[in-house]
Amino acid sequence: MPIKKHKYAFAIHGGAGTISRKSMSKWKELAYREALHRAVSIGSTILEKGGRAIDAVVESVKEMEDTALFNAGKGSVFSYKGEHEMDASIMDGKTLQAGAAAAVTLIKNPILLAREIMNNSRHVILSGDDAKEFAIERGVEMKDSEYFFDEYRFRQWQKAKERGRIMLDHDEDDKGPKDEKYGTVGAVALDKRGNLAAATSTGGVVNKRYGRIGDSPIPGAGTYANNQSCAVSCTGQGEFFIRLSVAHEISSLLRYGNMSLDQAVKKVINDELKKMGGRGGLIAVDKDGNISMRFNTKGMYRAGKKEGEEVIIGIYKNS
Ligand code: ASP
Repeated sequence: MPIKKHKYAFAIHGGAGTISRKSMSKWKELAYREALHRAVSIGSTILEKGGRAIDAVVESVKEMEDTALFNAGKGSVFSYKGEHEMDASIMDGKTLQAGAAAAVTLIKNPILLAREIMNNSRHVILSGDDAKEFAIERGVEMKDSEYFFDEYRFRQWQKAKERGRIMLDHDEDDKGPKDEKYGTVGAVALDKRGNLAAATSTGGVVNKRYGRIGDSPIPGAGTYANNQSCAVSCTGQGEFFIRLSVAHEISSLLRYGNMSLDQAVKKVINDELKKMGGRGGLIAVDKDGNISMRFNTKGMYRAGKKEGEEVIIGIYKNS
């Protein structure tokens, strides 16, 4: 039987929140659009050449981790202890294998550690200093704390500490939800062989305590991929995404609820999540190459590319 050739589809996000045209300078917007364009091009070029979905999501997320504009890798927010505790995960829709690193410090690219955990450990999630030990064993690149330092995020943390608050990334002037923004990054891909993959990486929330772990490193919550349905990467208030198992919920609505991808995403993000008071968004691609990028916040940094079509980049509700 001939192998069915699929048209590839790829999407990324760089976080959701109160991102309004009014509060955005021309230069800042340009910098974000360029960073999104770079990251989406890296992944889609891999897919264009017949590469694997899993490689496309890793390389694209790695690029965004290296960009200080996003709250992942370099540029991650500060925790209560003044560290950068990062979470990342990856999932392969073909094998349902997954790997995740939670609350890790000094790892240059947490997504590469997540992939190492998926490929070379017998576990799914490793956390904290023990995950770092595994990273050293596997030769995953580490950096000293200066590498992760970002002046803007340092001031943001000082403010949060003064006020005794746990803030979301870019929650600059302490006006609560009105000014929230989440800078997590993620990617989803369908390759030409019909395989799906998803990856997510984050520094979490500002001033977080007690080894707090969000949804990003939890398969089924912030990240999920299954060749029978779709690949999903989320961003927003992690606690809500965990309680709703958002990424897996989308997959289940496709498999058992007979919904289209966009119907499922709309239901979860604009209905279920909103009802609980949860804010955020997600990107998803299904096994037929449909892409959905929805959010219940003012904006979400996002980009998508389908085979034979132009790159789409959006920040606000009306792109
Ligand atoms: N979902 C992330 C977390 O709760 C935050 C984000 O998306 O920015 O850790």
